[in-house]
Amino acid sequence: MILKKKSFAKINLFLYVTGKRSDGFHELSSLMAQIDLADEMEFVFGGNGIRVTCDHLLVPDGKMNLAYRAAALFFKSYEKKMGHFPLGVSIQIKKQIPVGGGLGGGSSNAATVLMVLNEYCSAVFSRVELMGLGLTLGADVPFFIFGMPALATGVGERLEKYPDLPELYLVLCDPGVSASTSDVFKNLDFRLTSRRNYNMNTGLNALLGELRGDGREKLHNDLEVSACSLYPGIASVKEEMEVLLKRNVYMSGSGSSLFALFFGPDDAKKAYEMLAKKWAKGYKNVFLTSLRR
Ligand code: ATP
Repeated sequence: MILKKKSFAKINLFLYVTGKRSDGFHELSSLMAQIDLADEMEFVFGGNGIRVTCDHLLVPDGKMNLAYRAAALFFKSYEKKMGHFPLGVSIQIKKQIPVGGGLGGGSSNAATVLMVLNEYCSAVFSRVELMGLGLTLGADVPFFIFGMPALATGVGERLEKYPDLPELYLVLCDPGVSASTSDVFKNLDFRLTSRRNYNMNTGLNALLGELRGDGREKLHNDLEVSACSLYPGIASVKEEMEVLLKRNVYMSGSGSSLFALFFGPDDAKKAYEMLAKKWAKGYKNVFLTSLRR
């Protein structure tokens, strides 16, 4: 049996770093939403064991791939519960989501694997159990299993549905830099984060201000200063994009992807076409996409 699935990317509309736990993990408050940009995943069931291949140079095949680790975790957990292993699976990933882009590509692939295998095995695990398994693979994995826009706190695992997002279109740019999430967190200067004067309303008010288009408030990402000092290419593309689009541009997650928000598909399309034409020859990659609500 062959099954094809889309594995969607996410963006962080805002992201505040609110603390650091004794185990070294950072606590966040972030509004996360999936977007239409997606990898294509193909699952072939049968035989024994797990095989994973990916068509992207920066993404490993086999055991180092997060999709493999998700399948191995599912197999182990299934065996513990049912007393035997499920049928084997071969997984092929066609990457569209920029790698190291702060768009959660690897986490999304891992979540898709957990959900597809669980469905294939007659839903032996509940959604909450699956999210618990996902968290052991990465902080963003539970969000993709949750499956709707969410306010994320804790290390990203405490998720609260955020149903009030309007229709939003995005012009998204991969500035041609792959950012390391762990390096960006290590380089974080706590004197520059919002942890002292932040509560969730700060982010939501900034979002409302942004959506009203009155420019009073700006969305914010506490990881931006760190990412831009490690990868100056992010800052220069952001500035260029803000000048060309005449609007605020934000970084998603730990970078490197940058995005601008639009209310209408036509304005977004015009902006996308202008950037795509202007940057056709370079290393930057531009996408036209929208929020999944
Ligand atoms: P996050 O913000 O969730 O940390 P990201 O979007 O910045 O992630 P990813 O694209 O998920 O970054 O990739 C980060 C690293 O994970 C890369 O070094 C990549 O080689 C490795 N990786 C392993 N498996 C995958 C996968 N299935 N898809 C993407 N990257 C993967």
